Amino acid sequence: MISKLPQVGISIFTEISAKAAAAKALNLAQGFPDLPVDQDLIDRLCHYVKSGANQYAPGDGVMSLRKKIALLTDQLYGYLPDAESEITITSGATEGLNDAFAALVNPGDEVIVLEPAYDAYIPGILLHGGIPVSVKLDTDTFKVSWEDIERSISDKTKAIIINNPHNPTGTTWDQDDISTLSKLADKYDLIVISDEVYHHLIYDNQSHLSVLSDEALRKRSIVLFSFGKTFHVTGWKVGYVIAPDLYTDEIRKMHQFATFCVHTPTQLAIADALTFDRIRKVNDSFEGKRDRLIKGLSETKFRMKPAAGTYFQTVNYRQYNQKEDRQWVDELILNPGIAMIPLSPFYQDETQTYQLRICFAKANETLDSAINILQSL
Ligand code: PMP
Ligand code: GLN
Repeated sequence: MISKLPQVGISIFTEISAKAAAAKALNLAQGFPDLPVDQDLIDRLCHYVKSGANQYAPGDGVMSLRKKIALLTDQLYGYLPDAESEITITSGATEGLNDAFAALVNPGDEVIVLEPAYDAYIPGILLHGGIPVSVKLDTDTFKVSWEDIERSISDKTKAIIINNPHNPTGTTWDQDDISTLSKLADKYDLIVISDEVYHHLIYDNQSHLSVLSDEALRKRSIVLFSFGKTFHVTGWKVGYVIAPDLYTDEIRKMHQFATFCVHTPTQLAIADALTFDRIRKVNDSFEGKRDRLIKGLSETKFRMKPAAGTYFQTVNYRQYNQKEDRQWVDELILNPGIAMIPLSPFYQDETQTYQLRICFAKANETLDSAINILQSL
């Protein structure tokens, strides 16, 4: 067996969750909510399963869900995608990402990746013979350096992948970032893969700036979303891709043989539940959790900038020690028994930023226990 991904091991999320389970540590590492799913969403799912919606869905996704997505996208970003030809339901954003890489990356193509980067990007590019070109965000502010990005563009650059709001740092882009990306993508004829799975989790009265809201940009963008984060159902693995029909046609070829279709009853249930009001409610509840965590951590030596989006708070621990982040995370899992995610695995060269990621998508009691533990360090 010749491995196609010899450099890849198990993901940091799986690794830390397993260590946390073995040590019975409080797990604020892997990004999943421990919050209850709304009863009406569960009821809709049960209804569809009981009423027989259990066979293959249309490959591109259930039309009622695609139409709901189109309307919501228009309401949020002022762009009404064509439900027929521009929206595809995928098995989470992970499948959408992989369909996108499979569709557009040819051997030798360079794809710019901004680090720290979500773990699925680089393997997805390598698998198709692409060359990931890493550009680091500022290790303190995690802002994008457009000069560094422009310097990394070559005549082989096919695409750039961005993630806004950003996992693991909780930062978001401003209008200047979007406008600069738009100009650069146009100047160098780049395809933009935009991972916006946390688009509904934006705080401090800000709005999410999607690439879809920029007319020039959306014509060259493949945009990934996921319902896992919005509805507390990461295990349902339902996401979607919005892309111009030319890209969508190719993405659907990949999707057709990756999964053919996503399970039917979950799509129907989400279609019923997807409303603007529900999204607002989720956002407010996460903002409260972020504030609760930050307030608790203000009595510790962790230093942080409040997450502007996502359900992750990154904290700098330099005032405690100078240990490598992986080492300190392993120690903390064993004693006092709390699991967080180190940032270095989000870099190809394991850059040390002395920062950890805390997932705050948790019940208030879980957050309070975590705060107590962290205050005792
Ligand atoms: N992109 C980012 C930035 C993520 O954090 C995640 C998962 N948390 C995904 C993609 C994958 O989403 P899904 O679980 O819908 O496959
Ligand atoms: N995206 C989640 C996180 O960032 C984890 C998903 C996974 O475990 N693959 O924690």
